[in-house]
Amino acid sequence: ENMLLEVNGLKTYFQMEKGKVAKAVDNVSFSINKGETVALVGESGSGKSITSLSIMRLIPKPPGEIVEGSIFLEGKELLTLPEDEMANVRGNDIGMIFQEPMTSLDPVFTIGNQIVESLMRHQKIKKSEAYEKAIELLKIVGFSRAEVIINEYPHQLSGGMRQRVMIAIAMSNNPKLLIADEPTTALDVTVQAQILNLMMDMKKKYGSSILLITHDMGVVAEVADRVLVMYAGQIVEEALVKDLFLKTKHPYTKALLKTIPNIEVELHRLDSIPGTVPPAHLFPKGCRFAERCTYAMAKCHEEDPSLIENSPDHKVRCHLYEREGGM
Ligand code: SF4
Ligand code: MG
Repeated sequence: ENMLLEVNGLKTYFQMEKGKVAKAVDNVSFSINKGETVALVGESGSGKSITSLSIMRLIPKPPGEIVEGSIFLEGKELLTLPEDEMANVRGNDIGMIFQEPMTSLDPVFTIGNQIVESLMRHQKIKKSEAYEKAIELLKIVGFSRAEVIINEYPHQLSGGMRQRVMIAIAMSNNPKLLIADEPTTALDVTVQAQILNLMMDMKKKYGSSILLITHDMGVVAEVADRVLVMYAGQIVEEALVKDLFLKTKHPYTKALLKTIPNIEVELHRLDSIPGTVPPAHLFPKGCRFAERCTYAMAKCHEEDPSLIENSPDHKVRCHLYEREGGM
C-alpha cells in the first residue's frame, strides 16, 4: 500500500450569526502517497488552511465543526480517535509548519527548550539525550552555531531562522506527513528558496510526504509532484504538476497561471484575477466560479459541476469537460 493519507468527503462548516453556515470545506476528497509532495493551491478564502487544520483536528469548535467525511492516515481513521491519541499524532506522525509570524514558537522559552519539549513529548528519552538531539537537529537545518542558537529566544532570530527552527521541531519526531501552510510567504525571496530547499532535503532524508499549501504557482512548479486546485471550498482540478501546467483544464487554474509573469522569476501573488472568491456562506447556485469565469454558459449558473476524471490522473470540475472531448 503506497497511500499515506486519504481524505474522503470532508465537510468543515462554520456556524455564523443568524443561523448562517459557512461551508469552508465542502465535500473535499484527495489522497497523498508515501514520499509524495502534494501542493494545495488557491486564493485566500478558498479553504486551503481549513482543510489542513481539519486533518490536524484543530478546528475551533464552536464555531467550526467537521460535519462529514473521513481522514485516514495509513488506514487509521483520525476523526474518531480519542483526543489523547490525536495529540500524539500531532507532532509525531504529522509535523506542521505555518506562515511566519504565526509560527508556534513560544516567545518565553529558549529554542532549545522548545525542541527538547517536542522530543520528550513523543519519545522516551532523557533530557540530556534530547538536548544532544536538539543540537544535532539545529545543525541539520543549517545552524553552524547550534550550541549558541539553542540558548537563544525566538525574538533574537530572523524570520528565516525561526522557520528553520520550526522545520527542526516539525521533523524532530520523523513525521510521516509534513503539513506546510504558506511556510515561505512572509520571507524574502532568497530566504524563501533556502527554506524550500531545506524542506525538500528533509523530505528526502526522512522519507516524509508533504502537503504544501501555497498561493504561489512558482513554488508549486518547483517542488510539487501533484497539485490540487481549490476554489470556494471545493477541489476544482487535480493533476500531476506537469499536466497542470502544460494541459491546464479548469478556467480558474488557467486564470491562476496567467497571474505568473514568468514561472522562473521571483515571488508571485495571485491577486490579479478580477473579482473575489465568494464568501463561504453565500455560495451561488451552480458553478461557484461562474461570476468570474470568461467561459460561463447558462448551465453554469444553474448546475454545480462535479469533479470528474477527464483524462488519466487528471480531474476537473467544469461543465466544459462533461461531454467527450471537452474544450
Ligand atoms: Fe466556467 Fe462554467 Fe466551467 Fe464553472 S462550469 S468553470 S462557470 S465554464
Ligand atoms: Mg491560509
